[in-house]
Amino acid sequence: MRNFFEKTSWPFPGSKKETTEFGKAKRDISVCEKCGAAFWQKSWHRRLEDIPDYEKENTHSGICPACQMIADNRYEGEIIIENVPEEKKGEIENLIGNFSETAFREDPMDRIISIQTVAKGMLRVLTTENQMAQQLAKKIKKTFKGKVSLTHSRRESTLRAKIILP
Ligand SMILES: [Zn+2]
Repeated sequence: MRNFFEKTSWPFPGSKKETTEFGKAKRDISVCEKCGAAFWQKSWHRRLEDIPDYEKENTHSGICPACQMIADNRYEGEIIIENVPEEKKGEIENLIGNFSETAFREDPMDRIISIQTVAKGMLRVLTTENQMAQQLAKKIKKTFKGKVSLTHSRRESTLRAKIILP
């Protein structure tokens, strides 16, 4: 299986969900120079400010897995929404925006990468995390009804959700 984060360089961990030590003292903190997220004590925090001052002796800078994924044009989750009525488009985009904020607050590696109109009545949403795409698809279905089908690709560790609105 392809290592999703093979391009991610030290001192960042091999996977954003990885819980094992990555070889350094636990006081070491990695700070993403793009988004400011900080890796400390086995998990990602939104900002360095979220970490107590006394722990900030050893900080390194780098790029976090989410920013690296975006820079490499990769994604783990894709949602295609079909049959989007023009008058509902703003409402759907708002729902996605709110979802994105909540997800980021809970885990700074969870991001909505983009929302694109790919054709008339068709939206494409990309996420950094596949479970996030699944949750968002459920939420859209619950609010706007429609039919959802999910396709997992184990090889590429991606999830594709297709929603056809009524
Ligand atoms: Zn980042």
